[in-house]
Amino acid sequence: RESIRNKKILVLGLAKTGVSVVQHLNALGAIVTVNDFKPLDENKEAQQLIDENNARVVAGSHPVSLLDEDFAFMVKNPGIPYTNPMVVRALEIGLPVYTDVELADKMTDAMIIGITGSNGKTTTTSLVGEMLSHASNLSGQSFVGGNIGIPSLDIASQASEADRLILELSSFQLMGTSEFKPHIAAITNIYGAHLDYHGSMEEYISAKWRITANQTSDDYLILNADQKGVFGDRQTNATIVPFSSTSKQADGAWFDRETEKFMWHDEVVLDRRDLLLPGNHNVENMLVTMAVGKLLGLSNEDIKAGIAQFHGVKHRLQFVAEIDGRRFYNDSKATNNDATITALDSFMGPNDSLVWLAGGLDRGNAIDELGEHMTNVHAMVISGESADKFQALCQAQGITAIAKAEWIEDAVQKALELSNEGDIILLSPASASWDQYPNFENRGDRYIKAIEALANPDSL
Ligand code: ADP
Repeated sequence: RESIRNKKILVLGLAKTGVSVVQHLNALGAIVTVNDFKPLDENKEAQQLIDENNARVVAGSHPVSLLDEDFAFMVKNPGIPYTNPMVVRALEIGLPVYTDVELADKMTDAMIIGITGSNGKTTTTSLVGEMLSHASNLSGQSFVGGNIGIPSLDIASQASEADRLILELSSFQLMGTSEFKPHIAAITNIYGAHLDYHGSMEEYISAKWRITANQTSDDYLILNADQKGVFGDRQTNATIVPFSSTSKQADGAWFDRETEKFMWHDEVVLDRRDLLLPGNHNVENMLVTMAVGKLLGLSNEDIKAGIAQFHGVKHRLQFVAEIDGRRFYNDSKATNNDATITALDSFMGPNDSLVWLAGGLDRGNAIDELGEHMTNVHAMVISGESADKFQALCQAQGITAIAKAEWIEDAVQKALELSNEGDIILLSPASASWDQYPNFENRGDRYIKAIEALANPDSL
């Protein structure tokens, strides 16, 4: 903290994270200059910082000459790319470029638990947060933040030494770290489908690996043993804790497929049924969560109680409710084939039987590839512009129980009529919402409301 008082610091890019950075740096006595691309007259955040914090703001462009002033370092919004002229120039002249998480680490003595990876960050971070906030024998408080929507400095500034920060970390955030040192770090997985050339894939993996750059042998790095090799010969000083959903890990967390138990070394910790979240990807997220719990000395009872009520992240294969033996899931966020394939594949158990709700905006894309993931679908409710396409898909699969619905409330009703006891009723539209709804959140919220109305008919 002393290292910040009276220092001249340049904050590049506002948005929620940037505003939080300016406010906290100000409170610590730094001399802050803000540079944001948006002109002042349309820049509410800059205006607010001028009014409330008397901040010095350079708005409307990125004047590289600003860097002639002798700043101690730059704090850049994680969303600003390294090709931005200010960042390029800063690195040329040797000015350190940090992101907010580097400052968060400097600002607090609380224990840091950092979670990164290509997929599953938000789910795992939320699961860990749930688990730790219920744990009876842990001292202090647990705070969740970072890439998950709560700026890391907002929680770092509240936490004391006995507390814990659980941070969701993007690769962009990790690229701007220097001394950042989590006590427990986890990399859920690395997928590179969206990266199209090798150089950038290597850079991406190296950015993720920065999570362990300053760890020592007293620290832990939780790694996916099913992806051995993706990190090449990158080294760490931390104690590696492996997890796997496919094979036994004598010194880590693993899922026993035969008994459907979550295992820690040789010990049974949880049953698959203890976790409401479906799918193998959530088994993996739970393994990471369980490893964190075990490393912190939680009892199996505390781990189980902590995760038992977790319904998933909203609109992402979220468990909504069980009514008359039907379990409803909301995956309104699934606006393309890939996301819906993940959802359908999450219910591939021998006893799973689905009523699937799909359709929405028609982007003119093919949906045939969904067919082979429909093994357990026995009925379908279709709506939106793309309804006819889904009808054809259904017929190609030999499914005859098809209902067409106008609005989502109607779709819930029709799904119920087509369902049997024990069924899963899944909204995973594989289509965007804009043909009928302002956004996928609205579509999902209305779906949840309609289900709640089924549970409490009097509330209408
Ligand atoms: P992130 O925060 O990394 O984007 P989320 O937890 O929000 O991840 O999950 C986003 C989507 O990624 C989920 O809806 C699911 O389809 C997929 N997903 C989640 N966890 C995993 C995992 N462990 N492995 C592969 N895919 C996953």
